[in-house]
Amino acid sequence: MDKEGKDKAIGIDLGTTYSCVGVWQHDRIEIIANDQGNRTTPSMVAFTPNERLVGDAAKFQISTNPRNTVFDTKRLIGRRYNDHSVQSNMQLWPFTIVPGKNDKPMVEVVYKGEKRVFAAEEISSMVLAKMKMTAEQYLKCDVKNAVITVPAYFNDSQKRATKDAGKIAGLNVMRIINEPTAAAITYGFVALDEEKRNILVFDLGGGTFDVSIATVERGKVEVKAVAGDMHLGGEDFDNRMLNYCVQSFNKKYKIDMSTNPKALRRLRSECERAKRSLSSAVETVIDIDCLHEGQDFHTKVRRAKFEELNVDLFENCMQLVKQCMEDSKMSKDQINDIILVGGSSRIPKVQELLSQYFEDKELCKNVNPDEAVAYGAALQAAALNKENINLVLVDVTPLSLGIDVNHGVMKAIVPRNTPIPTLKETCVTTRLDNQTTVIFPIYEGERPLTAQNNLLGQFVLDGIQPARCGVPKIRVCFEVDEEGILTASAQDKRTGINNQLTVTNERERLSKEEMDKMVADADVFRKEDEEMVKKHIAKNTLECYVGNMKSRVTEAKCKGTVETRVAADMSEALNTVEEWLDENDYATVEEFQAKFNDLSLKCRCLK
Ligand code: AMP
Repeated sequence: MDKEGKDKAIGIDLGTTYSCVGVWQHDRIEIIANDQGNRTTPSMVAFTPNERLVGDAAKFQISTNPRNTVFDTKRLIGRRYNDHSVQSNMQLWPFTIVPGKNDKPMVEVVYKGEKRVFAAEEISSMVLAKMKMTAEQYLKCDVKNAVITVPAYFNDSQKRATKDAGKIAGLNVMRIINEPTAAAITYGFVALDEEKRNILVFDLGGGTFDVSIATVERGKVEVKAVAGDMHLGGEDFDNRMLNYCVQSFNKKYKIDMSTNPKALRRLRSECERAKRSLSSAVETVIDIDCLHEGQDFHTKVRRAKFEELNVDLFENCMQLVKQCMEDSKMSKDQINDIILVGGSSRIPKVQELLSQYFEDKELCKNVNPDEAVAYGAALQAAALNKENINLVLVDVTPLSLGIDVNHGVMKAIVPRNTPIPTLKETCVTTRLDNQTTVIFPIYEGERPLTAQNNLLGQFVLDGIQPARCGVPKIRVCFEVDEEGILTASAQDKRTGINNQLTVTNERERLSKEEMDKMVADADVFRKEDEEMVKKHIAKNTLECYVGNMKSRVTEAKCKGTVETRVAADMSEALNTVEEWLDENDYATVEEFQAKFNDLSLKCRCLK
């Protein structure tokens, strides 16, 4: 609770590469800087022999600890180990993924000398807990309530897994909202006094691409259509550049560096840096000493080369823009503003293609692309928290939801881009004479055959009155709530017997026991973090004390205010503790304090 006794609610943009948190305070949204003073925090967690690091601290040490520094978990969340995307991403990650229960991908690391496995939800929960702590330190109160954003194209199980991650982090997830929708809210809020406008949000981040068309008018945001690709973003551009550099290194030295994870990590981060600089310069260099087997790597990269390496990926973005435009049934000239969101929207070629498609229209850059999503999430959180905000949000389903009729043919009951919440019904019947049971598998996706779509779950309607095939009338009802979460039900009209299923993807989801264990583990991690902070403070206090006292002893010796023998004793004690500090980075709080007390006693004559 804050000083006025009201619970605060925060908005978190849980990004593939960076996360950002905002809160409504003093009648405006404030984006909160982390302990390093940065307004975005790397979505990264590192495990070391002594501690767990999250955010900037994890990123700082990645080149020395690549196997135990985990990132990109948003690409794993809600997926199966054998998914094509998981298998191909794994080839590029320096950390290890192993198959867990029910084909769940698990991250394997060594932490404090022991092998540990973590679900993607747990790693994401650590990033969320860091964002929660950033907000708490800033607001000086506990924070429980949060709105978390996900890519519009996240499927049902990915959304639920993200919610689970929030719970493990100790958050009450008030709502999950789509990232481009959050950006549209931000725009709607910034342009509060404007007339009704149609906007296109082009959200190209680190791992995902979303495009969304919405109408905004005085705090009302109505999404008309969304499209996107969950595997398209800045990291794909980095990978293209990485592969190019690996090939040129291998060719030049006739050795294969692709088996050296540390070298790959170093090269990847240089590629990412080079990519960023190519957004403002037309040429840059990649220069790494001793990259692999003692060989240096030096190359020039031109913007044109970067564009050539990624031309098909940029083209994919534009195809999705076209699809979204068609779905929205708007013409190009009806789009008033094009909003750029996500770090990768800074790439000049991407901007050029987008502007060209809209007949050289100028792109809107008055919304900060790194913060727009967290800003919108914080606005939604504040509105749900009954702050004085005028915000009405109508979102849509990104994927069609349907059932299997007629041996594998998909029948969409809720077509994609239907405004939510929604309730849709259809009537089906039996295929066999005297059939008393019907199984309803539920799918999401746009393909005509269910096998090509994503199976969300299934339920059974039993006790149908026996009759000739085609006679029973079964009412199937799909209800989608404002978060896009589906409850499906079926009822035999004659007997009134019914059954329903709230799609929970039990197979991929964490069981209650697993969740409870992860919540308990998160608590252990939180306590360890608190202990680590105390340790850093105790160590820091001792280090400062030693430094200050050494100068005071020298000063006292010069002034002759202390006997030579006493000064020598103090110097010796101070030097001994200084050496001990060098060798005992991870001593306990008590040990640091004991050394401090001992030294203060020995140096008391200087106070
Ligand atoms: P986000 O997920 O929105 O934080 O976007 C992060 C992605 O944006 C990462 O892949 C970054 O490398 C990329 N990015 C950030 N700044 C730039 C830039 N100036 N040019 C190209 N890509 C960038």
